[in-house]
Amino acid sequence: MPARRTDPAAIELLVLDVDGVLTDGRLYYGARGEVLKVFDVKDGHGIRRLLKAGVEVAIISGRDSPAVTRRARDLGIRHVFQGVGDKLAVLQKLLQQLRVEPSACACIGDDVPDVPMMRAAGLAFAVADAHPEALAAADKVTPHPGGRGAVRSVCDLLIAAREGAQRGARKSPPLRIARSGRVSPGPVRGKR
Ligand SMILES: [Mg+2]
Repeated sequence: MPARRTDPAAIELLVLDVDGVLTDGRLYYGARGEVLKVFDVKDGHGIRRLLKAGVEVAIISGRDSPAVTRRARDLGIRHVFQGVGDKLAVLQKLLQQLRVEPSACACIGDDVPDVPMMRAAGLAFAVADAHPEALAAADKVTPHPGGRGAVRSVCDLLIAAREGAQRGARKSPPLRIARSGRVSPGPVRGKR
């Protein structure tokens, strides 16, 4: 039974599918057979902010494209796996390598090949225009479709949750030090 409904503030790794998640899923074929993809700049900015906030980002894609390699390099995504048949196996290896618990991993998918890794992740997102099976496997559905801000909305959610948790930690009551020297959390009352 996979861990579900992980607190977004506890996510340490975000895994992205490419086609239909980072793109709208359409492939543009040139006359010489070259394939072009369209990425969203707002998604890119969200990914950069998320990396800066301390969350790792990985790409696991079924297809193989130099455009994805280039886009990942531009955004500072270090973990890129393309031409992947078994996405879950790749995710499990990556989790081991990064020493991240499956429950601390979030995943965004749009189609059937993403479902096993969505089920394994602590928090699974489907893009708004995902296939019904991916929608059914998701804890949350993004307000935007793939390639049109879906990734950005997840990045913003994870960043806001982390910032909220950090603010909460700063606001927590000061430690109370008893005469015995025992330290316990709680408001300081009376004279010290
Ligand atoms: Mg896809």
